[in-house]
Amino acid sequence: MECIDKKCPIHNGVKTRGARLEGIVVSDKAKHTAIIEIDYARFNYKYERYSRNRSRIPAHNPACINAKTGDIVGISETRRLSKTKAFAITDVVKKAA
Ligand SMILES: [Zn+2]
Repeated sequence: MECIDKKCPIHNGVKTRGARLEGIVVSDKAKHTAIIEIDYARFNYKYERYSRNRSRIPAHNPACINAKTGDIVGISETRRLSKTKAFAITDVVKKAA
């Protein structure tokens, strides 16, 4: 199958640079977009404890990858692809069970 997605980071023009993150897909409802949730702990020096944080990043989901809800994926920073997207899914680390 040939990839015709112009925003595909693997087959076509969009270059990746900057941050590379891993997270879980929590929504694949939108066309060519997935919401990636990332859990992380950050140390707070004043209270000497970790705080658990969570961020949600909209990322481009090209047809050749087609990640589904529950998949663990790697995302890379790209140029801004739309009003909210500046990341693209580059690979599926683990498929949902
Ligand atoms: Zn592609």
